[in-house]
Amino acid sequence: MNIIVLIKQVPDTTEIKIDQKTGTLIREGVESIINPDDRHAIELAVSLKQDYGGKARVISMGPPQAIDAISEALGMGIDEGILLTDKNFGGADTWATAYTLGKTIKKVKKYDLIICGRQAIDGDTAQIGPQVAEFLNLPQLTYVTQVEQINEKRIVVQRASEDGYERMESPLPVLITVIGEINKPRHPRVDFLINACKDKANIKIWDAADLGVTVQEIGLSGSLTRVIKTFSPKTKREGEILKGSKQEVVNQLIDRLHERHLV
Ligand SMILES: Cc1cc2nc3c(=O)[nH]c(=O)nc-3n(C[C@H](O)[C@H](O)[C@H](O)COP(=O)(O)OP(=O)(O)OC[C@H]3O[C@@H](n4cnc5c(N)ncnc54)[C@H](O)[C@@H]3O)c2cc1C
Repeated sequence: MNIIVLIKQVPDTTEIKIDQKTGTLIREGVESIINPDDRHAIELAVSLKQDYGGKARVISMGPPQAIDAISEALGMGIDEGILLTDKNFGGADTWATAYTLGKTIKKVKKYDLIICGRQAIDGDTAQIGPQVAEFLNLPQLTYVTQVEQINEKRIVVQRASEDGYERMESPLPVLITVIGEINKPRHPRVDFLINACKDKANIKIWDAADLGVTVQEIGLSGSLTRVIKTFSPKTKREGEILKGSKQEVVNQLIDRLHERHLV
């Protein structure tokens, strides 16, 4: 089975700071990690490979330092990595990101299963998986919590829905997005990690020319959306201390809740 995992290197924080002038993320001084959901995607790929054989690759689009995320994935047991790095990929919205990742997958050609995290903790859109599936004209199963069965033709998964869980089946090839409850990611093996960091033979580095895409199709130029302004919402809280006996305070509180149509 040929498995591709899409991984994103993200800042190790959920408090994203934005440069107000450029509208881009401020990454200085923040450690980078593999996006948490993507670690679960890697774990799934490695365990499926162990159970059914085949090859597992990771693909990541990002700055040159995203090679660290790929090396860590190799440390966890992934066979090969592709780093997409080119200044022209910069400023990509989800459309341009999915387009670039989709083009890469088409170039790789061999895939039965594509695994993404559900959501990146910085961009937070949860759009990339579904957009890549659309680009490749593949079926997609999102919010997967368990792979119940898989063979060379079909997959049966359990996925989380708003009301509980659903069991779904799809033919292969398919793209799935996974959430944290699917598994517990393993730690990288030190020997694998040292090999990955020392010998980069299993990591390919591709730019726009390698994908055969023009500058107009990718990055900021290929993006359909533009960030006009970014800002944090202003939160204004008014405090009020209710006075009186316990019963009076409770009655006042209930009145306030009724006034605001909260009960
Ligand atoms: C106009 C505009 C400009 C932007 N400029 C920048 C910028 O300059 N720098 C910047 O960092 N972001 C920028 N962004 C954000 C960028 O578009 C998103 O980070 C990116 O498209 C991925 O979306 P997401 O983070 O919401 O991923 P999600 O859709 O939440 O991610 C879901 C899954 O998709 C996969 N995935 C996501 N991104 C990648 C990737 N890059 N490589 C491999 N797999 C991936 C992972 O499996 C991940 O778990 C910009 C966005 C817009 C709209």
